[in-house]
Amino acid sequence: MNRLVVVSNRVGTVKDAARAGGLAVALVEALSAAGGLWYGWSGETSEANDGRLRMVQDGDITLATLDLTDQDYEQYYNGFANRTLWPLFHYRIDLTSFDRRYYETYQQVNAQFAEGLVPLLQPNDLIWVHDYHFLAFGQELRRLKCTQPIGFFLHIPFPSREVFITLPRHDKLVEALFAYDVLGFQTDRDRRMFQDYVVRELGGEVWENKARAFGRTIEVRTFPIGIDTETFVQSADSPEAINQYTSMREMLKGRHQIIGVDRLDYTKGLPERFESFERLLEDHSDVHRKVSFMQIAPVSRTEVEEYVDIRHELEGASGRINGRFAEFDWTPLRYLNRSFSRHQLAGLYRASRIGLVTPLRDGMNLVAKEYVAAQDPEDPGVLILSRFAGAASQLRSALIVNPYDVKAVADAVHEALNMTLQERRDRHQTMMPDLLANNVNIWRDNFIEGMKSVERREAA
Ligand code: UDP
Repeated sequence: MNRLVVVSNRVGTVKDAARAGGLAVALVEALSAAGGLWYGWSGETSEANDGRLRMVQDGDITLATLDLTDQDYEQYYNGFANRTLWPLFHYRIDLTSFDRRYYETYQQVNAQFAEGLVPLLQPNDLIWVHDYHFLAFGQELRRLKCTQPIGFFLHIPFPSREVFITLPRHDKLVEALFAYDVLGFQTDRDRRMFQDYVVRELGGEVWENKARAFGRTIEVRTFPIGIDTETFVQSADSPEAINQYTSMREMLKGRHQIIGVDRLDYTKGLPERFESFERLLEDHSDVHRKVSFMQIAPVSRTEVEEYVDIRHELEGASGRINGRFAEFDWTPLRYLNRSFSRHQLAGLYRASRIGLVTPLRDGMNLVAKEYVAAQDPEDPGVLILSRFAGAASQLRSALIVNPYDVKAVADAVHEALNMTLQERRDRHQTMMPDLLANNVNIWRDNFIEGMKSVERREAA
């Protein structure tokens, strides 16, 4: 049996995973099955990083982490990862920093982390690297003569070629990706964007699920990430969820609630969403006092300036909307910067007639899937979903909208508020089978199977 090695920016304990749910639990289960290793950043910075590994045994899983220096944290994590790759891969060239030092530190950190992992590796390991912090990790492992199968999954979108080539040394990053055996993308669109780059920019070849360039042929496949659907359905019936549901319904006094749940991030389309809600109140006076919008937006990446800016912008917009429309017994918009547990969210989703999920660009968007899974099948709410979220390729019975079209989103909310019970049920029933069949465990097993088939081919 192969041992699984997971490499990701943050490494969680088994206890953290249980709280976070979803992906973390799915990975912990796979790691426990054959005494796996989870490797990544400790979440700590130290002034001078001496490359010392922190090793912790957590049940059957070994957790191994490295610190970052303060400078690495600034230039690699806040820098190339969150000020360059994150905005660029989400099509925000206007917010992308093109700083050469960031790129150099990124390469160095990827190399250091690869060096830290090599002494821990065993010959039959399968190495699964996650996300945009570690694009160059596989190439560094190969430089250190690592021959095990290495897979990489990109959780965020892969941008179109015209956007991607604005990045200096884009070809170096793609060359690094060709060191992996399996490349996984969230949607066919992302996979096609990558293949298009390979053909047009590199003169490489693509066929079926393969790509060839830099003298190597690799597997390039779509693996849309799922949620732990059954657990989520059950958690909508947990005491914590029922509590949250009951107090929310009491507070709503028969009004319909629209809910949005997003990390406070400029990719999530929050200013446009607030504007759409304002437009709804302007154009449809019949909904006044009958609807309220709750936006949950825990703050993130507070050291990056653009995140501070968007926070200020949203505070201004929510004040303006309530100032314009509130009555002494009706607050149209509630905007909360705190976070909620998964059980609480399940109750809040269920109490809400509309789930409003309108990112400008999103790799998948798990909130969209959670909202659907948490609904009461007898009286479900309506999901309004951006066409630019990866989830839109699966949740086709949602009301699909263009988040930039403020008026169209306002009208979709109005349509959802007036939708018949039969239509709401039909739409919900169409989406649930796919959510149950393509859950996070299936996603994980498919990816691991993809890596194993590479190993089998090479052995043959
Ligand atoms: N989430 C949470 N508490 C909150 C807000 C969000 O547990 O207060 C969870 C949410 O349930 C979802 C995840 O955070 O599982 C967000 O994932 P998504 O793919 O929607 O967006 P990301 O933050 O990864 O860009």
